[in-house]
Amino acid sequence: MQIKIDEELCTGCGVCESMCPEVFKVGDDDKAKVITPNECKDCDCNEVADSCPAEAITIEE
Ligand code: SF4
Repeated sequence: MQIKIDEELCTGCGVCESMCPEVFKVGDDDKAKVITPNECKDCDCNEVADSCPAEAITIEE
């Protein structure tokens, strides 16, 4: 699984980090980063992607 964030679209709202802090972290530049690629143990990353208000997260299986 590959999780990608389009930094052009990301607004730094923090929704992804609040849903899955093991995978997503908003950096000092107010853009979300994937901190543990290819790992998602406690949440459904597709759900996080669907919850991103900017539609900046894409998941490739
Ligand atoms: S939920 Fe989307 S817009 Fe908000 S910080 Fe995460 S990637 Fe960026």
